[in-house]
Amino acid sequence: MTTIQTVTGPIDADRLGRVLVHEHIFTGDIEHLLNYGHDFDEEVEVEKAAARMNALKASGIDTIVDLTVLGLGRYVPRIRRVAQHTDLNIIVSTGCYTLGELPMPFQMVGPGLLFDEPDPMPELFVGDITHGIMDTGIHAAELKCAIDAAGLTPGVERVMRAVGQANLRTGAPITIHTNPANRSGLIAQRVLAEEGVDLRDVIIGHSGDSDDLDYLTALAEQGSILGMDRFGIAFSLTFEQRIATILGLIERGFLANLALSHDCYCWTNFHPGGVARFHEHQYSGVIDHVIPALRQAGLPTGAIETMLVDNPRRHFVDAAERFARRSQKALSRDGI
Ligand SMILES: [Zn+2]
Repeated sequence: MTTIQTVTGPIDADRLGRVLVHEHIFTGDIEHLLNYGHDFDEEVEVEKAAARMNALKASGIDTIVDLTVLGLGRYVPRIRRVAQHTDLNIIVSTGCYTLGELPMPFQMVGPGLLFDEPDPMPELFVGDITHGIMDTGIHAAELKCAIDAAGLTPGVERVMRAVGQANLRTGAPITIHTNPANRSGLIAQRVLAEEGVDLRDVIIGHSGDSDDLDYLTALAEQGSILGMDRFGIAFSLTFEQRIATILGLIERGFLANLALSHDCYCWTNFHPGGVARFHEHQYSGVIDHVIPALRQAGLPTGAIETMLVDNPRRHFVDAAERFARRSQKALSRDGI
């Protein structure tokens, strides 16, 4: 039986239940917070976040994947404080979110750079998964990278390849932040495939920002899961268009390639006004609005559970099992 690492320890994969595959809890710029965050009250924010996680659990969601990595303000001790006050499973991630340049500690270190050494990123990501993050004992169980309007910049490509290598070394699955406007999911699939990643291990995040069924079909045909993951953000598509796209993909036979989420957060300093700025953007959107809309369109309950339970579970379990099989093969090939 496959176990999956959560903030409070490993759980049996069957206990993942209904999963929101792309969320955040605290996301922001930590350096800005340390210098200008006069109004940040740790106790209050942890309490508020725990209350929101508890409400989510009570509404029928069992697990969230927190995709906050380096570049988005990852700080897992604070996530643990939230996790200690809720029964919701929280999975944390490793990797790096950049849409252009790398964080400074990676800019000068790497093959051919000022400090001509092996790229430190794969080792750091693998360590977060196998050893745990710093000395917290919290293991990441998901890898994350990003590609957006700027396309495959040298920094974006380096992270993507490092994430691919960490996937090969650990079996942890991958989520990519993509921008469908430049069909960057396909670029990411190409780069990860070049690294040897099985594209069935991958969620193409923010696919729900597109209603281009041919683009989405091309991604799904490679076996990846499409993250229909920005419900509540009135950005690029309306709610109705997002629902219609899901139905269109199911009609084309891609039910097994769909997962639902909001890309929501409890706290941020990325924009003024914090989370209060966007009333519609709530963790409850899938339960309160998406499921009723899909049901009304005639989708059976089983299909909804496939997107919320089976597909996310497969994302973790199949990646781990494929990794185990590859490791076994390598051992027998080496005659061990
Ligand atoms: Zn996100």
